[in-house]
Amino acid sequence: LMPDLAKKQELGRHAWYLFHTTLSRYPDEPTTEQQTKLKNYIELFAEFYPCGECSYHFQQLLFKNPIQVKSRQTAALWGCHLHNLVNEHLKKDIYDCTTILEDYDCGCGEFSEFNNE
Ligand code: FAD
Repeated sequence: LMPDLAKKQELGRHAWYLFHTTLSRYPDEPTTEQQTKLKNYIELFAEFYPCGECSYHFQQLLFKNPIQVKSRQTAALWGCHLHNLVNEHLKKDIYDCTTILEDYDCGCGEFSEFNNE
């Protein structure tokens, strides 16, 4: 199959949406187990990301910028920063991370297995 840039970009937009929304719902005070699991989840997201070039590049970025799993705020800001490093690499605009948690409201209300405060 030939590379298809439009599809690759569509994949990227959907993947980033899930990535940021997941981080915006991570607990404020995660347990040690949740911290380990988030780290594993992001590492596997990177390793199995369907675009090979993207996966390779993102794994290098993860190595240099280890995921911050201490709280929702630090994880979400870290995710925004990583996306900005990809934006920089692709010569795209840098995103303002100050309202990252509000920007990625999942629309799923209060109830969540993870976080129901
Ligand atoms: P996207 O970058 O897809 O962003 C979607 C929307 O998210 C934007 O419109 C904006 O509203 C918001 N946004 C932008 N920046 C941020 C931020 N920092 N934090 C939060 N929200 C933000 N493509 C390649 O060609 N080469 C690669 O190596 C590559 N690596 C990738 C690695 C990963 C892990 C992912 C998920 C995607 C990768 N992509 C790569 C795809 C690329 O990042 C874009 O998704 C794609 O080019 C479409 O870009 P876009 O301009 O529509 O906006």
